[in-house]
Amino acid sequence: KQVAELIAAGEVVERPSAVIKELVENSVDAGATVITVEIRRGGVTYMRVTDNGCGIAPEDVPTAFLRHATSKVAGQEDLNAIGTLGFRGEALASISAVAHVELFTRAEGEAVGVRYACGGEEEPELTEAGCPGGTTLVVRDLFFNTPARMKFLKKDVTEGNSVAGILDKLAMSHPEISIRFIRDGKEQLHSPGDSKLSSAVYAVCGREFSSTLIPVDYRLGHVKVRGFISAPAGCRPNRSMQNFFINGRFIRSRTAMAALEEAYKGSIMAGKFPACVLHLEVACEAVDVNVHPAKLEVRFVNERPIFDAVYHAARSALNAGDR
Ligand code: ADP
Ligand code: MG
Repeated sequence: KQVAELIAAGEVVERPSAVIKELVENSVDAGATVITVEIRRGGVTYMRVTDNGCGIAPEDVPTAFLRHATSKVAGQEDLNAIGTLGFRGEALASISAVAHVELFTRAEGEAVGVRYACGGEEEPELTEAGCPGGTTLVVRDLFFNTPARMKFLKKDVTEGNSVAGILDKLAMSHPEISIRFIRDGKEQLHSPGDSKLSSAVYAVCGREFSSTLIPVDYRLGHVKVRGFISAPAGCRPNRSMQNFFINGRFIRSRTAMAALEEAYKGSIMAGKFPACVLHLEVACEAVDVNVHPAKLEVRFVNERPIFDAVYHAARSALNAGDR
């Protein structure tokens, strides 16, 4: 492989969780309602993503692994819409540049499926294979040919936790999709996919946490805020349970965090932080997506309406919770 190609690939897939993020986003784009993810050893030796989405037609399989190959429409409007942002047409190309990849897929209307193996020293091969409708990607030996990248990986447990974090967020951003996560043979997450945010939060966070949550359903101007915030008694020692989604996508926003914490002023102790699972809906034009796709920090063209909406949404939910 060309050095430049390997470096570029390393930008897209810097660690196992980045691979998983790209693969599950493809499954979501394919209309899957059930996604199963399995990893071993933090994902470094083995990752598998199976979906029941639309599948890939046999003739399109090799193309899907070419750089800048995307079947997704890329109009200018699209680029402004955060929901479709990613490394456009680069994920499969990049992953197969730095790992052994095996794909099984059967498209809607096809009688049999295909298997495609690539990413090793051998020529890629495409063969018929019996498989269920949808797509399975198996990724083995990540960074086998890029030892420098391999060295930057953290301990298996850390890498595995990062994968878990991606799937927790996926489950909470898509309650209509059933997500199952198996880590070293043990099931770690199984969301029901019943379209209820509360079920997804329960699956991710557990019963004890869920029982301290107060529902939020609020609208201020063009910003809608819904989901759950923790009762003051359910606050946490850190911010790791602050989950914000904008237009269906997990993000980090200093403004939203600050607004949430401002709403709890006077009702929680110093060193404690509110938890939340809040979905914000705003017009795409109001979101500045000029951010690196792998970075989650989002800026708004105008931060004020976001601050105000989150603040008032939380205040009114807390007041209702008091009554
Ligand atoms: P992008 O998602 O930006 O189009 P990718 O490299 O992630 O680029 O995928 C390339 C193409 O492969 C996609 O455009 C899609 O047509 C196809 N593809 C990848 N994963 C799946 C999947 N799970 N189900 C159906 N099609 C898929
Ligand atoms: Mg993709």
